[in-house]
Amino acid sequence: MENEIKKGCRLIHLETPTNPTVKITDIERIAELAREQDALLVVDNTFATPILQNPLSLGADLVIHSATKFLGGHADALGGVLCGRKDLVEQVFHYREINGATMDPNAAYLMIRGMKTLDLRVWKQTENAGRLAEYLSGHPAVAEVFYPGLEDHPNHEIAKKQMKGFGSMFSFSLHGGMEAVKEVLPRLEFANRAANLGAVETTVGPARTTSHVESTPEERAELGIAEGLIRYSAGIESFDDLKQDLENALQALNMSNAQS
Ligand SMILES: *Cc1c(COP(=O)(O)O)cnc(C)c1O
Repeated sequence: MENEIKKGCRLIHLETPTNPTVKITDIERIAELAREQDALLVVDNTFATPILQNPLSLGADLVIHSATKFLGGHADALGGVLCGRKDLVEQVFHYREINGATMDPNAAYLMIRGMKTLDLRVWKQTENAGRLAEYLSGHPAVAEVFYPGLEDHPNHEIAKKQMKGFGSMFSFSLHGGMEAVKEVLPRLEFANRAANLGAVETTVGPARTTSHVESTPEERAELGIAEGLIRYSAGIESFDDLKQDLENALQALNMSNAQS
């Protein structure tokens, strides 16, 4: 990234943690490089939420959120948030005025109502994700678990430095690949199969058919997204229920292997 930035640029847009492999970028470091180029740094903070990460304090110029996810938190309204320096936000605000992407009153009401419990939800979801990622790391059917809270995550130290918690998003792959994913996901009773994330209900889905459905297999490979990668957005359900649910679904995998 450093080499590319040093070639010169006007705006750097980054997402950390990333969707769906939860890679972490050092915001302070990129902010420094951006300043050297007189470039603006925009951070998509959707996965971290304002509870766990504050990019403006780390040197970013603008922060964006898909409020559809954690801010609303109940999978029932679409929206977005832009925060940062007034002169920059005003430019976007004016553009939006002309183009008409204005939230309707009911969606606005749902957002305001949802945000009242943001702090409570995010910490509970983070706790669930951390414990589930630990559990899956030790499961024989699981090939790899991606979660910045795991000590063997390549960016664990940066995450610890710039986040207050590691978030509720993680992903994992199964030894059986996509075939195993097709066995396991329909058996989950607590996790809804959906492209959404960040809601009170746990949602789960393969990146191949959700967030990165528009990428080619080659593009996904380049991004390190295995075809059988499962993205898991931990909700606020009881940890024991979520763990048991995964356990049951993965158990079925063993049985179908034994039969074949
Ligand atoms: C969902 C998502 C978006 C897009 O937001 P919408 O509210 O669906 O338009 C952007 N960034 C991230 C990280 C997301 O998860």
